[in-house]
Amino acid sequence: MLIVNDEQRRRVGIVSLSKRCSYCTKPLAAYPLIVSDEASLQVYHAACAAALATEVLVDLFTFFSPPAPYERLFVCDFSRTLATEANLCDFASSRPNPTLSLETWA
Ligand SMILES: [Zn+2]
Repeated sequence: MLIVNDEQRRRVGIVSLSKRCSYCTKPLAAYPLIVSDEASLQVYHAACAAALATEVLVDLFTFFSPPAPYERLFVCDFSRTLATEANLCDFASSRPNPTLSLETWA
C-alpha cells in the first residue's frame, strides 16, 4: 500500500516517521512509503521497496529458471485462473509440456 500523508500513515498503524524502514533500517522521515500486507507491519521507503521487489523478482526468476547444472523444479501455469482452487505451481516433472512458464515472459 502506498502511503503519502500522515492520515494514511496513522490509519495503517505507523505512529510516526521516526519508525525505521524494514529494509535499510533508517528512519522513514518522509513520504512516499510502502506498507506491505504481511501479517506483521512492514514499512519501507519507496526506493527500498523497489529494491526489495527487484531482489524478490531476481530470486524468483532464479528459482523458476535455475542455472546449470540445477534443474527446474517448478513451472507456473497461468492457463488456470486464480478463481479456481487449483495449485498454480506444479512440479515440472509432472507437466512435461507446460503451456506457459516464466521463460515465456523473460
Ligand atoms: Zn529504506
